[in-house]
Amino acid sequence: QPITTDMETLTREVKKFATDKKLEIEMLQVREEYRREFLGNVSHELKTPLFTVQGYVSTLLDGAMDDKAIRKKYLKRAEKGVERLIYIVEDLDMITKLEVGDLNLEYSNFDIVELIQNVFDLLEMKADKKKITLAFENYHIQPNYVHADKDRIQQIIENLIVNSIKYGKSKGTTEVAVVNLTKEKVLIRISDNGEGIEKQNIPRLFERFYRVNKSGSRSEGGSGLGLAIVKHIIEAHKEKIYVESEFGVGSEFSFTLEKEVV
Ligand code: ADP
Repeated sequence: QPITTDMETLTREVKKFATDKKLEIEMLQVREEYRREFLGNVSHELKTPLFTVQGYVSTLLDGAMDDKAIRKKYLKRAEKGVERLIYIVEDLDMITKLEVGDLNLEYSNFDIVELIQNVFDLLEMKADKKKITLAFENYHIQPNYVHADKDRIQQIIENLIVNSIKYGKSKGTTEVAVVNLTKEKVLIRISDNGEGIEKQNIPRLFERFYRVNKSGSRSEGGSGLGLAIVKHIIEAHKEKIYVESEFGVGSEFSFTLEKEVV
């Protein structure tokens, strides 16, 4: 066998091999960094409610248990802490599935208007507590059939409306519109007249654990994963999500969906 590889080719091959290896190593480093950051965030998120529960239980054991009124109050608070832990773990479970592409979408045709009305009914009590009105933008809204994973879309709409309530002003309004964009697409738009988001924070909203106002979000029971989950579900559907917001005025989240397939 004649040796065909001249010195130049050989050098090129060696260099390429070195670059490939270097890229591979860099990628592994990035992944490792990402994993470490994720675990750090997770333990941080879990610690707060765990310490809350521990605090109330210890105080009860230290004698607070003897007073009936205090006992009930502290047990309720411990219960809230456990509820929060459950929310966080459920969101973590969801985001992990979404990130490894382990979520199989179950497509069907359904009326998106009816689905939104169901979410309104589900969240009415939560909205009432802040005297926030949930309504369709168009008073005479008609049924509108789309093709998507119904449960996942309900989850998205719930997340976005819950956010509009959490970050909404008391006596405000959350409006939902269903817009016929093209022959194939509809746009779902959820707008509020709440606190709004400063321009520089908008690009980071969909990152895991990102919050504009950390303590505000935690006291509202948020895991900081809601919008990351929303974005993943939309992308799994190969659709798009948009956000527009003005600080102090309000926010608008919208996403596209495919019309029903007959
Ligand atoms: P969280 O659990 O903190 O609500 P999300 O991922 O749902 O997490 O939202 C991330 C952050 O985006 C929130 O902490 C909040 O600062 C901001 N945000 C989301 N929705 C709205 C909204 N409708 N109005 C104002 N800020 C919002």
